[in-house]
Amino acid sequence: MGAVEVVENFVDGAWVRPAVNDLLAVPDPATGAPIAHVPRSGAAEVDLAVRAARRAFLTWREVPVAERVRHILALRHLLETHAEELARTVVQENGKTLDEARGSVRRGIEAVEFAASASTTLQGSFLEDVSRGVDSTLLRQPVGVVAGITPFNFPVMIPLWMAPLALVCGNAFILKPSERVPLSATRIARWVAEAGFPAGTFNLVHGDAPAVDALLAHPGVDAISFVGSAPTARHIYITAAAHGKRVQALAGAKNHLIVMPDADLDRSVPAIVASAYGQSGERCLAGSVVVAVDPGADRLVERLAAAVTALVTGPGGTPETDVGPVIRADHRDRVLNWVREGERQGARVVARGPVPADADGYYVPPILFDGVRPEMAIAQEEIFGPVLSVIRVASLDEAIEVANRSRFGNAAAIFTRDGRSAREFTHRIEAGMLGVNIGVPAPPAFFPFVGWKGSFFGDLHATGRDAIEFYTRKKVVTTRWF
Ligand code: NAD
Repeated sequence: MGAVEVVENFVDGAWVRPAVNDLLAVPDPATGAPIAHVPRSGAAEVDLAVRAARRAFLTWREVPVAERVRHILALRHLLETHAEELARTVVQENGKTLDEARGSVRRGIEAVEFAASASTTLQGSFLEDVSRGVDSTLLRQPVGVVAGITPFNFPVMIPLWMAPLALVCGNAFILKPSERVPLSATRIARWVAEAGFPAGTFNLVHGDAPAVDALLAHPGVDAISFVGSAPTARHIYITAAAHGKRVQALAGAKNHLIVMPDADLDRSVPAIVASAYGQSGERCLAGSVVVAVDPGADRLVERLAAAVTALVTGPGGTPETDVGPVIRADHRDRVLNWVREGERQGARVVARGPVPADADGYYVPPILFDGVRPEMAIAQEEIFGPVLSVIRVASLDEAIEVANRSRFGNAAAIFTRDGRSAREFTHRIEAGMLGVNIGVPAPPAFFPFVGWKGSFFGDLHATGRDAIEFYTRKKVVTTRWF
């Protein structure tokens, strides 16, 4: 299949080429040119990784936490040293701009830093005299073998939300990265190995649905961390639970940005544009619907339209680019179909940014819709592209009602100068990650990443203390000495 690299699995401390002939091509989204091929691992490859992880778990769990943390710190150092290389890999395989890629690598490193605090976060608790002469001790122990299944849109950050925390808690880990962005994961695996994690503690298995389904069904896997689209998340949650596994599944989104008549538009408009069009809208925290509270919607739409028309779409590696390509040609076509569907249902395109002429990359013009009604498909479905819909309402009450009708509940934001409106919003909105005058309200890694409703399946969220809970099991020891 040409001279393009075929990525390898990393199992039991060694790089292995899966014995499969089935390869998936990975194009550079900015040009369409092939940059790698991904082997479609199946049950046999997954079984090798799970067996290695199970063996490694037995000794890794006995390694003192301070020593595990030293490996985490070594990994952090390697990631920091290679941060620019990683960011450029993200640009190449995902298409986002270099600044966006750098930001995402930074966010990933923050998760590694949080993992380094395990000697504090892993502590249990003790209560003396729960009964006369009887004491209770709560211990945390690792779950066992954890598999992480990740999406295409954050090739570095999301694997780093999972692997370092799972490992520092004493688990062995298997990463199944998105088959659309295999190169960043391959680099991460190299540095995990260099950081001295023993063979088998971290394994990398490339592939798509067959590899995932093998992980879900394998009796040697104890827990599944998943991030991806809503239909896949549902499948993962149901199937993993049916196989008796612990599971957290972070899913899709449809985020509402409420703009009050008193909002500071000079600052709000750039924040809204960055939220909706940054990373080509391929962010689970991307603003997708602006709920414009009148009076003021006309002014807002005028300002947004001017900003959208001025956006520069192009290759992510070019400094003047604001909006990179989307991930694949079929995804570009899906986004353009949503635009046609919006027009068919009566919404008006009031701004359309330019796209590079004669480009082979997967470019979508940034689109702004006005006159969108809450029942329209473009107001309800996740488009995951550079498309923003404006719904006009008469009051904050109505705005909250529109946002709360969504079946998703990942993020929401309000733009206002009024504390009472902000308070009302944060109290009543049915979403987990909220911004007050912030367009992308991403919690840092020491807080949980808390989607609500259809944006999350499970109980314990990714990152923060929730992740420590997810990657450990509790034991309560009741003691009496005669
Ligand atoms: P996706 O669901 O297509 O793929 C995610 C992972 O699941 C990949 O590793 C893929 O190989 C695997 N997969 C895909 N289809 C499968 C199937 N039928 N059976 C088993 N495994 C399957 O998601 P994506 O397109 O890579 O990522 C974008 C989506 O992820 C968006 O919906 C976005 O909102 C969501 N996302 C959510 C969050 C969050 O925190 N809630 C964060 C990032 C992305």
